[in-house]
Amino acid sequence: SGCGICTNRCPFNAVSIINLPEALDDPIHRYGQNQFELFGLPTIREGSVVGLLGPNGIGKSTIIRILSGELKPNMGNYEEETSWEDIINFFKGNQLQSYFQNLSKGNLKVVHKPQMVDLLPKFVKGKVEGLLNSVDQRNRLDEITHILELESIMGREIANLSGGELQRVAIAAAVLRDADFYYFDEPTSWLDVRQRLNAVQVIRELAEEGKSILVIEHDLAALDAISDYVHILYGQPGGYGVVSQMRGVRVGINTYIGGYLREENVRFRKQPIEFQVRPPSTVTDAEVMAEYSDLEKSYDGFHLEVEEGQVQHDEIITAFGPNGIGKTTFAKILAGVEKPDGGKVKENVKISYKPQYLVSDYSGTVQEFLYTTAPNYGTNLFKTEIMKPFLLEELLEKKMDELSGGELQRLSVAISLSQEADIYLFDEPTAFLDVEQRLRAARAIRRVTESRNAAAIIVDHDIVFIDYISSRAMVFTGEAGVEGHATSPMDLRSAMNRFLSEVGITFRRDKETRRPRVNKQDSYLDREQKEAGEYYYLK
Ligand code: ADP
Ligand code: ADP
Ligand code: MG
Ligand code: MG
Repeated sequence: SGCGICTNRCPFNAVSIINLPEALDDPIHRYGQNQFELFGLPTIREGSVVGLLGPNGIGKSTIIRILSGELKPNMGNYEEETSWEDIINFFKGNQLQSYFQNLSKGNLKVVHKPQMVDLLPKFVKGKVEGLLNSVDQRNRLDEITHILELESIMGREIANLSGGELQRVAIAAAVLRDADFYYFDEPTSWLDVRQRLNAVQVIRELAEEGKSILVIEHDLAALDAISDYVHILYGQPGGYGVVSQMRGVRVGINTYIGGYLREENVRFRKQPIEFQVRPPSTVTDAEVMAEYSDLEKSYDGFHLEVEEGQVQHDEIITAFGPNGIGKTTFAKILAGVEKPDGGKVKENVKISYKPQYLVSDYSGTVQEFLYTTAPNYGTNLFKTEIMKPFLLEELLEKKMDELSGGELQRLSVAISLSQEADIYLFDEPTAFLDVEQRLRAARAIRRVTESRNAAAIIVDHDIVFIDYISSRAMVFTGEAGVEGHATSPMDLRSAMNRFLSEVGITFRRDKETRRPRVNKQDSYLDREQKEAGEYYYLK
């Protein structure tokens, strides 16, 4: 499959490049013979946040490693070590010439928040407080720890932090430092919606102070809120990546949704992504397929209450709310991994469950793993319904214990979806996936659920994904780590209104694409919608 341009197997059907620019300039970097090549670098603007939007494996982290001086670009000449002189010459006449001049002399102050925050404990020891105090060059410790909700964990050992806590500590450590250039590689992984927007706030404040910022981000609502401009990256993941020209953030994201770069004449997706506005549904007479009573669960110091619910055939229920409030506990109760202290899930429902945290202790290859875990592996149905949308072909020969976070996620969601079940239950399936992978997963989940007359329940934090996939939704509220309360499933708009009024955020819809967009705090629309109690879409 593919577009006929690549001579070898095209690994990503739906996003294959349908037409390419005639000729590409010299690459900025090539990792080695037959290895990944990067064409172009983004623009850096003083006082602006520039977003990078593109699939995994397209060179986004490579760009940040080059601009932060961690990787010396070789301009395609991977056989010898390049000199700074060569690099500076290469960028003659470009804004990047003086950038690399200064970078080579150590005259640039650059801060880089890396993608993999889970590696942080390997390099930084001690308590959160110690780390953040030692980097507080801007004298903003109290304010930043307050906005990022870190006060209660200041005394904790870095080694004992959860993913979301590590992410917020890493962001705090970056914004507290005094630099001219700030590069953030995927700052929202593990964070809930409000935490994502808090991260947006502290990063935007840097721009207001005149700093230059680049951000790599897969959550379209967060990317939209954080960026002034975006560069779309396209090409062949793992093969080559091209940085498109810079666009204003609204036009840039809409262009991405449309799948066609007009100025470059490049189509990178066959169809636009389509968002639907779902008004409050009055249909409640659909056939009930599964149900649970009011549920209760207590841990030492934490108490969860869930309102009873019914699940109908063919529907997709999303569940959202802050971190630490019992979403995973609820999923475990449904899946039968945990017993509730009160109430019960009606029996005779077969549930296929993808947990939030994935571990692979299997030492064989993905293919061997699929043989033992995917019931219909090898059939045509498996190929079209599962292999293709999750791009498993390219993973088959890889060792299970060497998969990246995104690869393991794709495989795990795919395996859950390949089981015969009444309810498919996914706890945070979009973590580590890029935008295309999120939307392909959404479509695959919808297709399989409908073709089997089953249902799905999905816990997630990505508002654009939730908007795209939900038939109905349930909201979790309460106090993180203390108590949680979950509503019965309700229509998406009511659920969003409840959730967003609690966190004080309003959304509107983009006129052109109908994608959800965050309103600026205290903007005219924000105030108007809050007054009307319409936190989530009017039209
Ligand atoms: P992204 O951040 O867009 O997901 P990366 O910049 O991390 O992508 O990687 C782009 C491509 O370059 C990937 O195919 C990756 O495997 C490859 N790559 C990254 N680092 C190296 C390296 N040190 N040597 C060889 N290939 C690499
Ligand atoms: P969420 O998925 O919404 O982030 P969780 O359901 O994972 O939240 O956790 C809710 C609360 O319950 C947290 O404070 C967590 O520390 C606590 N908790 C979860 N599992 C256990 C357990 N097995 N023992 C004790 N406390 C737990
Ligand atoms: Mg990356
Ligand atoms: Mg959870």
